[in-house]
Amino acid sequence: MSLLEQLPDAAFLVVTTPQAAAVDVAARVGRMALDARLPIAGVVENMAAAACRRCGEINDIFGSNGGADLAGRLGAPLLGSVPLDAAARASGDMGVPVVTAHPESAAAVVLADLARELPVVRRSLIGRSLPLSVV
Ligand SMILES: [Zn+2]
Repeated sequence: MSLLEQLPDAAFLVVTTPQAAAVDVAARVGRMALDARLPIAGVVENMAAAACRRCGEINDIFGSNGGADLAGRLGAPLLGSVPLDAAARASGDMGVPVVTAHPESAAAVVLADLARELPVVRRSLIGRSLPLSVV
């Protein structure tokens, strides 16, 4: 968080799973950011529902709507909901981003959309000290 304070126009991406307990933890982090007057670009829900590869049934192992709940609590947009995806696990094990190794996979599609739509958040200079000195 202190590093973020030094970076102009840096902003938080608050990540949670859909699970209520994870949402509560992420909400605390988001609240700390807001208390420190650091902007939140948005919320990302990870490990969201996945479709079964055999029958297509939707499995929401970690519950649902946690990302939307968190976004509402922080007053920030929900930027994406990344599904549980075996391709993401496999490419992670290989050390290759899923968007490179399996760009057609469900997780990669959401991540690529998220990267494309990532909002630019400008921080106000009000109340911030500027690195200027009188020579
Ligand atoms: Zn199935």
